[in-house]
Amino acid sequence: MATASPNFPEIKQEQLQPYLHDSIVVPDELQANVLVTTLDKVYNWSRKSSMWPLLFGLACCAIEMIATAASRYDLARFGMEVMRPSPRQSDLMIVSGTVTKKMVPAIVRIYNQMAEPRYVLAMGACATGGGPFKEGYNVVSGIDKYIPVDVYVPGCPPTPEALIYGLLKVHEKVERQSILTVPWYRKDQSEFVPVPRLGPDIFDPRQVELIKETTMKKPAVASAAASGGDAAATHAAGPKEVSSKAKARMEEAKRRAAAKRA
Ligand code: SF4
Repeated sequence: MATASPNFPEIKQEQLQPYLHDSIVVPDELQANVLVTTLDKVYNWSRKSSMWPLLFGLACCAIEMIATAASRYDLARFGMEVMRPSPRQSDLMIVSGTVTKKMVPAIVRIYNQMAEPRYVLAMGACATGGGPFKEGYNVVSGIDKYIPVDVYVPGCPPTPEALIYGLLKVHEKVERQSILTVPWYRKDQSEFVPVPRLGPDIFDPRQVELIKETTMKKPAVASAAASGGDAAATHAAGPKEVSSKAKARMEEAKRRAAAKRA
């Protein structure tokens, strides 16, 4: 058993542990100055103690995030006070605010530009599930549909205390990882998230096959009519043909947009 050093009286006797290996011989004068730990512990401790968040806010939740970084809550105690303006230097993306369809491609592109190890915290009801705007025409119901999220912080908006709790949960996750199994040292596991495309609606390129399968289904109008099927069954069978009137309207809109660009 190691003994307390007069130089470090604050180290209590019960905090000192017996050495696990008889093969480690520690001279008496160094008994209270030698720490034996695992590589994982040091690796994770250094990562969690200097986790730099990305300077990135989308809506009202961002104000709470800014308040968290201000003097009252003092993020500096976690080594997180410097919000980096570049994804290349950041470890943590805090998605704070309403995620619109227009913004999703930019968010995914920024996420892809962050170097591993990287973590994502979804802050607030909007980022976690669409919030009060869920099912809105321009809002996605959660950023986790597009990028992997490590920690969710609920609330509308969450308080700075809630965000700090979420940050501590990220730290806990970091502490549980092992250098032997983390994906960023394994060639086969590097993850690139395809950037979603924004057209008339946003879609994830990973779901192209599914979208094709659904939209390319032949409308069963003719066959249902021939067999005397009811209207509900016909409607459920597939998308309706675009009417000639609607086609003309689309053409007109395209012409106007082209004229505007020219
Ligand atoms: S969760 Fe509430 S506070 Fe946060 S961005 Fe959405 S509406 Fe604003």
